[in-house]
Amino acid sequence: MNIVQTEAIILTARDWGDADRIITLLSPELGKTKAVAYGARQIRSRLSGAIQPFSHVGIHLAAGKNIDSVRQCQIIDSFPAIKQDLALMAYSSFIAELSVELLPESEPQPQAFCLVLNTLQTLTKRNPRITIQAFAWQLLSLTGYQPEYINCVTCGQQIIFPAHFDSSAGGAICNECGKLSDVCYDQDTCSLLARFLTLDMAAPDKFLVSGAALTQLEKILHSFLLVVLEKPLKSLSFIQTVTKND
Ligand SMILES: [Zn+2]
Repeated sequence: MNIVQTEAIILTARDWGDADRIITLLSPELGKTKAVAYGARQIRSRLSGAIQPFSHVGIHLAAGKNIDSVRQCQIIDSFPAIKQDLALMAYSSFIAELSVELLPESEPQPQAFCLVLNTLQTLTKRNPRITIQAFAWQLLSLTGYQPEYINCVTCGQQIIFPAHFDSSAGGAICNECGKLSDVCYDQDTCSLLARFLTLDMAAPDKFLVSGAALTQLEKILHSFLLVVLEKPLKSLSFIQTVTKND
């Protein structure tokens, strides 16, 4: 039997049948792929503790006709600090949901794997709202969806601020080409986007963020994601619900 051993992050785990779970995992070599963990919901199963969303694991997969199956799974890091905090669970769901939506099936993803792992590690140490925004812009960039943010997406001229941002057009728009309905886009927002795109998520620098620029860029991100994915992300409502009283 063909068994593959790899490091992975479990993005999602859902119950299947009476005792099994189906997981979506992200591995550097296998990319985003699905596997079934037979018996993972039985209390005595060796897999039950390890097959949890957001866990970083070492995993052995046996090739199946329709779907691979999990033979062994050892936890490298279960991120207990995330699992004890509802808000961090919501932010992690966003990381997982966006990865599932943007990454193609079964293509090697060494960079996306490192990005997701580094983001989960950073989430407990730094401001999670800022962390997931940097993650989202970097994942969009990695998957070929980086918006045009320095030059006008319509005429190609360098943007003079304040200008506009039109998600459906794919980025920044100068005052000549912009419409009144477009979102306002200023120098601070542009600089913050540039910083997010280049931030080293393994060891992010400390920097001051203007609340106004962060909120503005968040609005742009949400409208841009809606255009790219053509549907709203469930995790964004989850984040809104659990952070409403913060
Ligand atoms: Zn223009």
